[in-house]
Amino acid sequence: MSAYDPNNIFAKILRGEIPSHKIYEDARTLAFLDIMPRSPGHTLVVPKVEATNLLDIALDDLTYLMSVVRKLAPEIVATLGAEGFMLQQFNGAGAGQTVFHLHMHIVPRWASLPLKPHAGQMEDPQVLAETAEKLRAALAAKGMGNG
Ligand code: 5GP
Repeated sequence: MSAYDPNNIFAKILRGEIPSHKIYEDARTLAFLDIMPRSPGHTLVVPKVEATNLLDIALDDLTYLMSVVRKLAPEIVATLGAEGFMLQQFNGAGAGQTVFHLHMHIVPRWASLPLKPHAGQMEDPQVLAETAEKLRAALAAKGMGNG
């Protein structure tokens, strides 16, 4: 699998070079909405350390990343009225990975709502902005705005 490329799109988002619909940030992680969501509220959680995939992140950083995933997922589900959530994570181009900075997908699920294709269609930016605002507000109300 490939070496870390510091110019991948999520590295640029982490450096603030390109915008994202952020919902949560702390010293070690950033969470923002996927621009081609598989369902409403589809969120990506990324570590701030450079890691291409699950195999080249230090275990402590991975554990922390997963603790944030576990903290955010139930809040996303509750805020959007989802019935559950799915985690998705790809390692290597052959496995379907398209952005080579490790990320966990939190995909809210509704039994009646079929999943859209992975990295399929761009969402309306206004819809993303409104969803992110709703999630930020819910997290902030629980004291989870910024770590
Ligand atoms: P992967 O296949 O690497 O797990 O998925 C990468 C994800 O990043 C896809 O779900 C895709 O929709 C999303 N994505 C690609 N480019 C951007 C971007 O510029 N901004 C955001 N927020 N998501 C992106």
